[in-house]
Amino acid sequence: MSEQQKKLKIGWFSFTCCEDSTIMFTEMLNDHFFAWSKILEFKHANILKSKNELSDIDLAFVEGAIASERDKKKLLKIRNVSKYVIAIGSCAVTGLPSGHRNNFDEKMKEEISPYLLQFHQTEHVYALHELIKIDDKVAGCPMIEAQFVQTIDKYLKMFKVISEDDSIINHKNASD
Ligand code: SF4
Repeated sequence: MSEQQKKLKIGWFSFTCCEDSTIMFTEMLNDHFFAWSKILEFKHANILKSKNELSDIDLAFVEGAIASERDKKKLLKIRNVSKYVIAIGSCAVTGLPSGHRNNFDEKMKEEISPYLLQFHQTEHVYALHELIKIDDKVAGCPMIEAQFVQTIDKYLKMFKVISEDDSIINHKNASD
């Protein structure tokens, strides 16, 4: 890595879900924070900071399914300001399990409809690819940690933040 370190500008976003991948991400920072903060700029990450910028993002990680008009708009905005969007975990990739109500029978759908109205929820719960173009995905419920690290590694190389010979896989704070 060069002295004038270029950084990959990332965003981390959560929609309808249990946020287990967000918890995993923050847990991973216990091991990687000092190494990663040299090569990643956290442009938007509510879990890490209160002042966030929703603009000029290289890589947006999006966890959760989309279940309201407000979240649809936010997702479109994320897509517009991000060069690449990565779906994180099963809810974002497939809509399930967060979108379980899509599979309810008609009787049950009728029973829950007042709650959807009350909480401004859409009738259908969307996987990200149903609404926007997705560039990559990290499978799992929660996300598979090794796949997530490999994905960051891939884009660090693509953006020439690290060289093709370098890798963040297996980097730890201890080796900073
Ligand atoms: S994919 Fe699983 S772990 Fe991730 S938000 Fe959905 S339910 Fe939670």
